[in-house]
Amino acid sequence: MKEVKNKQILFRGFITGVPKETDMELREGTVGLKIPEGIKGALVKNIYLSCDPYMRGRMRENYDSYIPPFSPGSVLKGFGIGRVVESNDEFFKPGDVVSGFTGWEEYSLIENTEQLKKIEVDEKIPLSYHLGLLGMPGFTAYVGFYEICSPKKGDRVFVSAACGAVGQLVGQLAKLHGCYVVGSAGTKQKVDLLMNKFGFDEAFNYKEEKGLVSTMRRYFPEGIDIYFDNVGGPTLDAALLNMRINGRIAICGMISQHSVSSVEGIHNLSALIPKRVKMQGFLQSDHLHLFPQFLDCVSDLYKQGKIAYLEDMHHGLEIAPKAFVGLFSGQNVGKQVVCVSPE
Ligand code: NAP
Repeated sequence: MKEVKNKQILFRGFITGVPKETDMELREGTVGLKIPEGIKGALVKNIYLSCDPYMRGRMRENYDSYIPPFSPGSVLKGFGIGRVVESNDEFFKPGDVVSGFTGWEEYSLIENTEQLKKIEVDEKIPLSYHLGLLGMPGFTAYVGFYEICSPKKGDRVFVSAACGAVGQLVGQLAKLHGCYVVGSAGTKQKVDLLMNKFGFDEAFNYKEEKGLVSTMRRYFPEGIDIYFDNVGGPTLDAALLNMRINGRIAICGMISQHSVSSVEGIHNLSALIPKRVKMQGFLQSDHLHLFPQFLDCVSDLYKQGKIAYLEDMHHGLEIAPKAFVGLFSGQNVGKQVVCVSPE
């Protein structure tokens, strides 16, 4: 059986605080290019790996959530795109391009093939977009906006982490829906992108504002109808004081709280009552029946030039830990992807 080198990124052990590159390590091993006897699955050569904030949760001991913690000493797992090298699963054949949960390594033996999706390669759309615009983050934007926010034309919409994988699409869908859209992000470059590439009406750098409550009042003198929350913490607290009557808050993520030693309290929840605001957390994975309609809708919008997408591509498996860690200090400009091997 032919053996080839297989670099892997291992998770070293449970962490507290902000993730560091040294929480992961590179191992150089080998892999046989044949599925071992008695195993059903697909051997995949990984092409692109996705860096996603939820992976930080899996690095916590006793992580009690919708997905189990990583095992110390094992290969990191995440969304990826790869090409099937060998398969004894009738649904996949060598050469198929697939997306789904894979390992942070050059080759992965994937046994739970029911979670893999075959990708219809379309030369008008970059393949890696199946991890961003047309993948989990894009789907999160789609279901979060249409299913959770109940948008109406003319609504005033605020999006945090607006230049990221999820946020950039939320803002553009809201614009196409006829809403007034303001985004917050952590650098001038991102603020410029929001205004000039993604067509937001306004954007601000939350790190440079003295008081977020008054900043939001400046952009939303009549209040916010929809707040799409990607960050939690002080931004959520300030938005609560700026909501309009019957406003909606979609709690998508709380990246500002992922790595703090003690979670910051939210003080302004009582504002929900007089304003009759609905605040709802959601998981994209509860809405997967909508995935085909999302794929059609967002692919068409992209091909018609009605939406743009920005990804931040790093090259080489070795750099994946740095790319992942960068999410927590806003180093990524757009969807963070790592290219492991050529398409
Ligand atoms: P992303 O925005 O591409 O990357 C994370 C961004 O968060 C960074 O670039 C940074 O941008 C911002 N950030 C980091 N630390 C921050 C802090 N302390 N305060 C404020 N902003 C901070 O990530 P994404 O993939 O689009 O995910 C966005 C959110 O959606 C995350 O909270 C994620 O967990 C959540 N999510 C939820 C679901 C779901 O099903 N509910 C699915 C996918 C993602 P700045 O430079 O702007 O600070």
